Amino acid sequence: MKAGFVTIVGRPNVGKSTLVNQIVGQKVAIVSDKPQTTRNRILAVVNRPAGQIVLFDTPGIHKPMHRMNERMVDSAVRSIGQVDIALWVVDVTESYGPGDRHVRDLLKESGRKVVLALNKIDAIAKPKILPIIEQYRHLLDFADVVPVSALTGENVDVLTSRLVAHLPEGAPLYPEDFLTDLPERFFVAEMVREKILRMTRDELPYSTGVVIDSFQEGPDIVRIEASIFVERDTQKAIVIGKGGSMLKAIGTAARQDIEAFLEAKVFLGLFVKVRERWREDVATLERMGLGERRKE
Ligand code: GDP
Ligand code: MG
Repeated sequence: MKAGFVTIVGRPNVGKSTLVNQIVGQKVAIVSDKPQTTRNRILAVVNRPAGQIVLFDTPGIHKPMHRMNERMVDSAVRSIGQVDIALWVVDVTESYGPGDRHVRDLLKESGRKVVLALNKIDAIAKPKILPIIEQYRHLLDFADVVPVSALTGENVDVLTSRLVAHLPEGAPLYPEDFLTDLPERFFVAEMVREKILRMTRDELPYSTGVVIDSFQEGPDIVRIEASIFVERDTQKAIVIGKGGSMLKAIGTAARQDIEAFLEAKVFLGLFVKVRERWREDVATLERMGLGERRKE
């Protein structure tokens, strides 16, 4: 048996979250067409007959702009150093650019075993794949280079078995039925945030945060109250919508996802709050799971 830790790295929007969901076979990371939606790293455990992968989805590696982003960068760099394999995801529909070079330099520096996933092969013509493999091969001494489509699932099982093959020998690190060590409320907050981003389109870039204020499991219903933080009154107006219509739509869509996830009936209360510098507010960051490093 093989067992070990794999972290996913790559610049925003290359399909890391989609790939995690595809590998795990269940929705654990939120997927959005906006970059940087994954703020916390997600740990999922993937069991295969040949072994067990403990998987991290790191936030996109990019230049620090806010305190939160510095923490994200720190956590991305740290997570590379702590794993057996770094799974580097690139988007074959985009040409290799400075963002990719930054990731490549970090990987080279880390000295980790690297498996390269060339993602989105569904979006290009098949004959183009081989030259792209050749182009990337020279960048690093990869343990493997695997073309995949996270969207359709094409070749993802091959990628998963290659990852398992490169892990060290060992007994499983977690029980078989263990999917994730992140609390349910983290996923609930992510589901709410995903709906906000999707429904408000481009009007709220990176400035929305969701904090779960209460989470009470009753015999018939789970009662959840959450605060949505925005930075300006104009953004609050967007989230609430005409006569509260947007907030209602966000709440309904999020509640349906949360009910499916928790397998329970859910009451979801959402409150929109303006806090200009919420991103700098460490207490808020800590409640979002970005404060203290989680114990390893
Ligand atoms: P992340 O920022 O790296 O986590 O990227 P996401 O997983 O959020 O995906 C970003 C966008 O790329 C979303 O719109 C996905 O639907 C899309 N995407 C991800 N994987 C694929 C793929 O294999 N093929 C295509 N065509 N689109 C993909
Ligand atoms: Mg993501």
